[in-house]
Amino acid sequence: MTTDGPTPATGAATLPEPGRHLTSPTTRAALRIQHQLLFAAREFLRGRGFTELLPPIIGPVTDPGSRGSKQVDIDFYGHRYKLMTSAILYKQASLLAFDKIFCIAPNVRLEPLETAGTNRHLAEFHQLDVEVAGATRDDVVQLVEELVAHIVGSAVRELLKEFAELGRDTDAFAELLKGSFGRMRHAEAVAELQGLGHPQSPDAELDWAGEALLSARRDRPFFVTDYPKGSRGFYDRENPEDPGLLRNFDLIAAEGFGELCSGSQRTNDYAEIITRMRETGENPQKYRWYLDLVREGVPASAGFGIGVERLTRYVAGLDAVWQASAFPKLAGVVSP
Ligand code: AMP
Ligand code: MG
Repeated sequence: MTTDGPTPATGAATLPEPGRHLTSPTTRAALRIQHQLLFAAREFLRGRGFTELLPPIIGPVTDPGSRGSKQVDIDFYGHRYKLMTSAILYKQASLLAFDKIFCIAPNVRLEPLETAGTNRHLAEFHQLDVEVAGATRDDVVQLVEELVAHIVGSAVRELLKEFAELGRDTDAFAELLKGSFGRMRHAEAVAELQGLGHPQSPDAELDWAGEALLSARRDRPFFVTDYPKGSRGFYDRENPEDPGLLRNFDLIAAEGFGELCSGSQRTNDYAEIITRMRETGENPQKYRWYLDLVREGVPASAGFGIGVERLTRYVAGLDAVWQASAFPKLAGVVSP
């Protein structure tokens, strides 16, 4: 990993001056890699028949399922609107126009103060958001594998100088470039973590420390699938053959870099969504526009969101995710 620029220690996060950050060779190399990843993602998805949409930035509601972070309200002509924490509701709705869509969407999440020192959390970040009508969870897991292999391959081929500048050995991607990712179920991840003495709850998302622990023990990215109901948003479809488990997944990077992507097959049944909203403590009244569309019928689908700065951090081998942003925002740190 690189050492250019300060690495925030837990509890004492800082960011370099904007001018210093933007002219740093590390920042430039990281942003060139990010540029190539996005270019190659567009190329790959267009080639597969996807339409790129511009994402909304504000709306009456946003994704409630973001662990521990706060949403930001804005005054929209006397109505309380939210800045998007994720595009999930809009992705499902967009399938009324096109069967395969993607967008590169900004998200704002006021993450807890202690995340300023995790090296993995920004308060403003972007997702490469993808949704496919008629797809299953396993279809989109395969799509993620092919997409990530394609875009990392493109960066590795095109940007030798940048990888050298960063001291990132691209041999780290040998398995990834073959499209050979690992797979484990959530229950197996919990068993491995508990075996290592890490107190991971079997009913919850993997916690940050647990995720990093599994990630550090692997030399290729891996999918964790079948998270338990209750650990994720109302939109992840429950497996009818395995009640209590959701048809969802995360992609976790190798080498301790942690989660890169979350996705799932979606619930598109009106009554089921209402039930799941109530179970997850959400008031269906707030989601009127979305529920009206669902009642009229939105396609069955599956999709995912890849954190663009997280992926860049992993590919570039950066110490911290803020190094993958031109204008980083860390929890509680005042910056432009
Ligand atoms: P989530 O909806 O929380 O699963 O987020 C989707 C993806 O966005 C994650 O897999 C991460 O790659 C990325 N992500 C989520 N939260 C953050 C954050 N605070 N900072 C940077 N990336 C994030
Ligand atoms: Mg996630």
